[in-house]
Amino acid sequence: MLRDRPQCDQPAPGTGDLAGRGQQLRACPLHGAVPRRHALLITQDALGLPFQPELGGSGEGMLTCCLVIEELTRVCYNTSYLLVMTWQPFYAISHAGTAEQKERFLPPLIRGEIKFSTANTEPEAGSDMAALKTRARPVPGGYRISGSKVFASNAAAADYFVTFANTDPSAGGKGITAFIVDANADGVTVDAPEDKIGGRAIPSCAVTFDDVEENRLGAEGQGFVTAATCFTKVRPLVGARAVGQRLHPTRRQRRARRDRPPAPRNHRRE
Ligand SMILES: Cc1cc2nc3c(=O)[nH]c(=O)nc-3n(C[C@H](O)[C@H](O)[C@H](O)COP(=O)(O)OP(=O)(O)OC[C@H]3O[C@@H](n4cnc5c(N)ncnc54)[C@H](O)[C@@H]3O)c2cc1C
Repeated sequence: MLRDRPQCDQPAPGTGDLAGRGQQLRACPLHGAVPRRHALLITQDALGLPFQPELGGSGEGMLTCCLVIEELTRVCYNTSYLLVMTWQPFYAISHAGTAEQKERFLPPLIRGEIKFSTANTEPEAGSDMAALKTRARPVPGGYRISGSKVFASNAAAADYFVTFANTDPSAGGKGITAFIVDANADGVTVDAPEDKIGGRAIPSCAVTFDDVEENRLGAEGQGFVTAATCFTKVRPLVGARAVGQRLHPTRRQRRARRDRPPAPRNHRRE
């Protein structure tokens, strides 16, 4: 697999001007890059590597998964980025999901039948999750979610989002609750991919929830713990991706390093 280098798509000029989902987004050449990489990961049984065999996974440990990510990054950064972005919501659902949610979402995620994206970051709240402004109001049978997220990787290709919203603004971090949102639900809008410097084959998009009706993932007020648990699992994988990239830079990265102006004198090691 690692010798089969998927084509690394270059950015299409003008993709930053596309707005909204539907026709325009489907016309975006970056959009096609996810299914091809996803198909490769399915054929290699990679999507379920870290997860329990009962769910269809391989039950591999973190070290093995890090080595896979490092090696995959060596041949294609975007494919390993997609794999980490697939594992991230999986960790959230396996941590906080009900038995019904786990059964409904996790085996299809491992088989590659559905795709997820994590929509946490907001224009005014990244690291500081307690400051999330997206609100979720309880209604009979569920919640209604309203707010805007940014940088949701894989959003343009996702069938579902794991997202986080404030159910009690007076409670700080303890007022954050996790949700699973159907990407095709009324009131969900996915914007055009961000004009990123790297990882451009995996679209990162702003996502708006406008009074979207959905169900909780985990108990009310436990979203912060769910996010922390899942981000803690993902951190070594992101580190492994950086190691893979550092050890095996692409031609473009080598050129950028070579052409980089020297660091100012007081930043150099003497
Ligand atoms: C390529 C890419 C893909 C992404 N994909 C996703 C995704 O799929 N889903 C998603 O939800 N988000 C995603 N993000 C967003 C990412 O998670 C946020 O950028 C990140 O959480 C940081 O938030 P911020 O950018 O608002 O920075 P800020 O939170 O404003 O932080 C800015 C700087 O301040 C530092 N800082 C912040 N707080 C403290 C503190 N208390 N003490 C000391 N230093 C501090 C930070 O380390 C950072 O250097 C993505 C971002 C990028 C660039």
